[in-house]
Amino acid sequence: MRFSHEFSPQQFESKPEHKARLETQIEKWKHFRNLVLEAVPSREKGVNLKRANNFLNKMRVPVKDHIFTDRMGLETFTDLSKKHNVYKHLENKSWLGGYFAELDLVIVNRSLCYEYYNGPEVSEGIYVHEQAHALTSYKNCIISKEGLEVARVGFAVGQETSELGMFLEEGWADMLRGKYMEKYMTGKMKTMLYDTPDRAQKNTVPKVTKKYTKIQGVIPSPSPIKTYELPTKYFYLVNSRGLIDHTTSALPGYSLELLCKKAPDLFETLHKARTDVSALRQVPQILDDLSPKLYLRLRALGYNMEDFLTGLNIILNEVENSPKNRPVNT
Ligand SMILES: [Zn+2]
Repeated sequence: MRFSHEFSPQQFESKPEHKARLETQIEKWKHFRNLVLEAVPSREKGVNLKRANNFLNKMRVPVKDHIFTDRMGLETFTDLSKKHNVYKHLENKSWLGGYFAELDLVIVNRSLCYEYYNGPEVSEGIYVHEQAHALTSYKNCIISKEGLEVARVGFAVGQETSELGMFLEEGWADMLRGKYMEKYMTGKMKTMLYDTPDRAQKNTVPKVTKKYTKIQGVIPSPSPIKTYELPTKYFYLVNSRGLIDHTTSALPGYSLELLCKKAPDLFETLHKARTDVSALRQVPQILDDLSPKLYLRLRALGYNMEDFLTGLNIILNEVENSPKNRPVNT
């Protein structure tokens, strides 16, 4: 069993051995955090950090400590994690960004390739996404076989074998990235994405529809082939021939955008819920008012294309295109 107990630091402290273990772990995380900040210097040249931070300020998302790095920096981080027994599960492979709740630290991988074809805005978008995750004040810890972990990040909660609430959590973060890209996507990226009609790529085979404001993606397997449409702002270029891709989180990002248009209080409640338990309890009510048991159904979805597409389809069929949900006056 991955998570055997859940407790808050207060509950934990009621037993002396728990208190000692928590204090030791917090010291270990602090020490490791300092090691990481020293070993992986932030490379921010070319990134418009001021603009990204201004955007976050407007969104009322506080800016947490962060590192912009590259593949080499990620390897250093992974090696250090293994050596110090902190994130034992972390694989030595390339990822675009992460928020490490135990360290309260954002890490962005500046992909040379993606920045070459899209500009530094693509990394700024990832930064916004990770900082959106970092807006969370739930410090309760759980015991897992790996040691202590922060139990909840925003809407995501650790469970036995997987996590619950990933659809809402990823949706929140990518909805904010989408807003940033919509505003600041520039130059080549915009021209290629909005003006080139024919494309193909490895995982999805998108083609432009609706005058390039939306792009159709296809999951080719398992059969039957599943298609979906996302706004163009969620995509980025992979090469100069117009090959494009999007992150898995773009599906819930667009889904939450649609939900926020239908329920006027939702965005504000989602924002508040990241730091306030009573707002967190209001989220299911707002979602369930749009469609029965919507919250629980979305909460159960795992972090993968199939599950996230299931979530998007539920929202399209039961909320967006349902005659029951009349559009909100704009
Ligand atoms: Zn994310």
